[in-house]
Amino acid sequence: MGGGGIPFFLPLGKNHPLSLMKPFLLSTVLLALFLHSCQKPSPSTNQTTALEKRLPYSIAIHGGAGTLSKTTMTPEKEAAYLNALDSALIIGETILKAGGSSLDAVEKTISYLEDCPLFNAGRGAVFTHEGKNELDASIMDGATQKAGAVGSVMTIKHPIQLARAVMEKSAHVFLTGRGAEQFAAENGIESVDPKWFYTQERWNTLQEMLAEEKAKGKTGDLDPLQNRDYKFGTVGCVALDNNGNLAAGTSTGGMTNKRWNRLGDTPVIGAGTYASNDACAVSCTGHGEFFIRYAVAHDVWARMIYKGESVSESAEFIVNKKLVEKGGEGGLIAMDKNGNIAMPFNSEGMYRGYAKPGEKKIMIYKE
Ligand code: ASP
Repeated sequence: MGGGGIPFFLPLGKNHPLSLMKPFLLSTVLLALFLHSCQKPSPSTNQTTALEKRLPYSIAIHGGAGTLSKTTMTPEKEAAYLNALDSALIIGETILKAGGSSLDAVEKTISYLEDCPLFNAGRGAVFTHEGKNELDASIMDGATQKAGAVGSVMTIKHPIQLARAVMEKSAHVFLTGRGAEQFAAENGIESVDPKWFYTQERWNTLQEMLAEEKAKGKTGDLDPLQNRDYKFGTVGCVALDNNGNLAAGTSTGGMTNKRWNRLGDTPVIGAGTYASNDACAVSCTGHGEFFIRYAVAHDVWARMIYKGESVSESAEFIVNKKLVEKGGEGGLIAMDKNGNIAMPFNSEGMYRGYAKPGEKKIMIYKE
């Protein structure tokens, strides 16, 4: 990783000040410059808060980003979200504290959030244009770089469990629709009647959107920026375990009113989810089309590896500069191999929280 050293190998022009120096003086100057460059911290060590030593464990979660305006949030609703995030963190932290794997922590934490109707994943999934629920999820193991993903499944209670089964029990990475459900049945993954995913609130949101479309004389408008109160609500988790293994997972119902088996970034490895022990684990939430186009989760990893950026520098640049410039609303959670966490978002809020030994925090708005 670059420490800002001078390029000794460059031929100096005849009139360059250094070429006019006596050889002894020149070598002294070069030695002094070299020592100075060694003292200069590399970008990845430039952060006072970042830990140089690996934590025994670390876990972070998100419950989606979007329009989470304080004015429309009631104290009861806020308390319900904070409680759900807290319970999810307890599940993951308990596994990690007992020496369990980051993959188990990610899968079980997300499974809990999939059962909670507050979030747009599993039970609380949003409705498609036709009034159905189509679920997407993915998981990645930072140690082996193996990954599993499912898209547009309609009867799987915990899509994250199916994604893990794809990773561990098939030769593939990405299964969709009926085929994925067939694979689930063959591998003992729990299925439910699609009614399980019905929630009144999400149904009402679809009806409002359909009415708005009708008024505008337009169908299939998925642009959340056109929908004042658009809320995301995907769930995700990144974790580091006691063996130094990172894992990441994400699960969603996608976007309300989606059509044509639309898939967002959530089940796309490298867009919504990515993990590699050499740098970081990442889970994204937001306007999926943008996260796919800019391979956001993989880009967090790439900037760390190729540019030597810290996890915060990389994640911050992508979410609050690149995505903002491109018009992509959302956020992400990212964790480096020492357990340092970044949770940037460019929307009004993002349900999120983390737990490390002796430290726990749950947040919704910007702090
Ligand atoms: N990224 C998800 C999608 O586009 C939505 C979300 O994060 O809320 O399907």
